[in-house]
Amino acid sequence: MGRVVAIDGPAGAGKSTVSRLLAERLGFRLLDTGALYRAVGLFLRRKGVSCELSDEALEKEIAGASVGFSGGMVVLNGEDVSTAIRTVEAGNDASVFSARRPVRAFLLQMQRDAGEQENLVAEGRDMTTVVFPKAWRKFYLDASETGRAERRFHQMQEKGSPISMEEALRDIRERDIRDSSRDIAPLRRADDAIYLDSTCLSIEQVIEAMVAEIGQ
Ligand code: C5P
Repeated sequence: MGRVVAIDGPAGAGKSTVSRLLAERLGFRLLDTGALYRAVGLFLRRKGVSCELSDEALEKEIAGASVGFSGGMVVLNGEDVSTAIRTVEAGNDASVFSARRPVRAFLLQMQRDAGEQENLVAEGRDMTTVVFPKAWRKFYLDASETGRAERRFHQMQEKGSPISMEEALRDIRERDIRDSSRDIAPLRRADDAIYLDSTCLSIEQVIEAMVAEIGQ
């Protein structure tokens, strides 16, 4: 098995940027598992699949999806969906469908296989608890609700899809509730994960703190 740095935390805590830069610094591959859940959510939404479908029917629907990464792109059935998965709606769809057992089962092995093959910085909601419980290093990256909503607000502005601060706050709150209250693989801090609060830290400070903990 490769060495896995597993990072979990709520939406907007800065996981994506921190994980990307940390992976570059360590020379590890980045595994952005949120992108996989977003791609599956997009696939199901495009097919008009209801979130109330039975597990059995949902499993059949998902069998038609092929998701993965290629040359820095997120690919869904051969299509580059890197941009399409980054909308607020795609985040919501990912959050709704990721609570379903067939969706999590569909993506679990793919994530573990990636960790078998090479050294990874793996980020998501259940990296430290379910996917890589024996990860080499574990972190839980947190930030205040307002700090996370502000980050989301600026991100969407930079992407040219502005949302209001109220919308950003609503999105963060809804996702917090869904991600941490679901029955399967809810977001929670693993007992052995190092807790970092990024609210008053720059990205560089978070990375320095992680590198110091990693000891490399
Ligand atoms: O991290 P990101 O915002 O891209 O994730 C989108 C959604 O995918 C999350 O709100 C969460 O519901 C789901 N997700 C998950 N498990 C992961 C990664 C993401 O349930 N490991």
